[in-house]
Amino acid sequence: MGRIEKGVKCNVSGCGNEAARSISVDKVKAAGLSVSSKENRAYICKEHYKEYKKKSKKDKTLDKWRFGR
Ligand SMILES: [Zn+2]
Repeated sequence: MGRIEKGVKCNVSGCGNEAARSISVDKVKAAGLSVSSKENRAYICKEHYKEYKKKSKKDKTLDKWRFGR
């Protein structure tokens, strides 16, 4: 995780909260969040990070079910 400078805003569309984390745009999009970033990293706020974590966890669980055994 990269360090976040103060004053950086969340890149999720419609969100203006202060960013708490930077995550690769691909990963954020894979979690179903729409981000607008020109870089490879997206900055997301605490709330969206929670959402991101929840969704990526779900995907992992699904993979386990699919590929488990
Ligand atoms: Zn946000």
